[in-house]
Amino acid sequence: MNKRIYLDNAATTKISDEVFEYMLPYLKEAYGNPSSIYDFGEENKQTLLTARKSIARVLECEPQNIYFTSGGTESDNWALIGTAESRSELGRHIITTGIEHHAVVNTCRYLENRGYEVTYLKVDEQGRVDPLRLQRALRKDTILVSIMTANNEIGTIQPIEAIGRLLKNHPALFHTDAVQAFGHIPVLPEKWNVDLLSASGHKFHGPKGSGFLYVRDGIKLPPFLHGGKQERGLRAGTENVAAIAGMGKAAEIAGRAMRNRIQREASLRDYMIHRIETEIPFCRLNGPRKNRLSNNVNVSFEFVDGETIVILLDMEGICCSSGSACSAGQAVSSHVLKEIGLSDEIARGAIRFTLNEETTREDVDYTVERLKEVLDKNRKMNPLYLSFSQMNQKR
Ligand code: PLP
Repeated sequence: MNKRIYLDNAATTKISDEVFEYMLPYLKEAYGNPSSIYDFGEENKQTLLTARKSIARVLECEPQNIYFTSGGTESDNWALIGTAESRSELGRHIITTGIEHHAVVNTCRYLENRGYEVTYLKVDEQGRVDPLRLQRALRKDTILVSIMTANNEIGTIQPIEAIGRLLKNHPALFHTDAVQAFGHIPVLPEKWNVDLLSASGHKFHGPKGSGFLYVRDGIKLPPFLHGGKQERGLRAGTENVAAIAGMGKAAEIAGRAMRNRIQREASLRDYMIHRIETEIPFCRLNGPRKNRLSNNVNVSFEFVDGETIVILLDMEGICCSSGSACSAGQAVSSHVLKEIGLSDEIARGAIRFTLNEETTREDVDYTVERLKEVLDKNRKMNPLYLSFSQMNQKR
């Protein structure tokens, strides 16, 4: 089996050829330490600045607002723990949602163990946060609101601008995890009144182990790593120049290609959803039809276990996920699907396909055909399905 159709781009993406070529010199000949004062090091200080500028251009902010990290998890940890630590005198209440990525959820749990109180906002059945619900949850001692820009499992895009407007007159900092959104939709922290924003290079065709945190002017976060003076003394350690350079290039490309990509992906996404819904019985789309990431298809199939279907599709050369790939391997059903009201059984039958700009109609057709076969075979081994479909036939 040589064919591989990669439909798990929310888990990670392929480094693009242009990014790869751009990174190569920094892995070999251009290895100078950006902190060194001779030219060979100084040149890499410029490399870091170029990457900072490329990212800032996409976010429509200034390069000094960008701090490099090792990825989305680190950015989320820094934003949440840094805010909690530096503002504990003002209050110890944090608001987030029940559908955040584990990088936020488990950081909140960590803070709860250290005496902070966390409100987990309920979302509707599409995974959408109602700003009014947030308004009601805000308190005088709320120091931080963390709401993701777009969900990694069901693709729901949150009304971040409306939330930012609401928070304008409240002293709480506003953090958004834009890991799945950056490069996929316009992400504009200054326009949205966002104070802190996380992103991850490997989600937009950059290298793994690269990420950044946007920090609005005037906000003072405590250092995340202690040591040297890198990242203006806030994140010590010799910079991963090649990865940062690659992420900067990937950001530049993502910003440039966004509009075309959204159109192309969204039409393929809708085609795939349409085929699945019309050709496969007993299924339901998870997440919204509108305000959904252009590459996300998440469907629950009744009478099957999603993990099993993922393994069977893998044997057909198709990579997809049965929930959040970051938590794959755990037998528990996704907290996101449970939060939008799915029963354990329906949540466990969920499969997520996430497309990219290179996905073709042929890839989608092949996937839907294999999916139909695999589901059919698998369901026929389920006595519940057999009696249910017999009952349906008799009617
Ligand atoms: N936040 C979201 C929404 C994610 O989807 C992910 C990864 O899937 C992360 C954070 C963690 O990012 P990273 O893998 O760069 O640590």
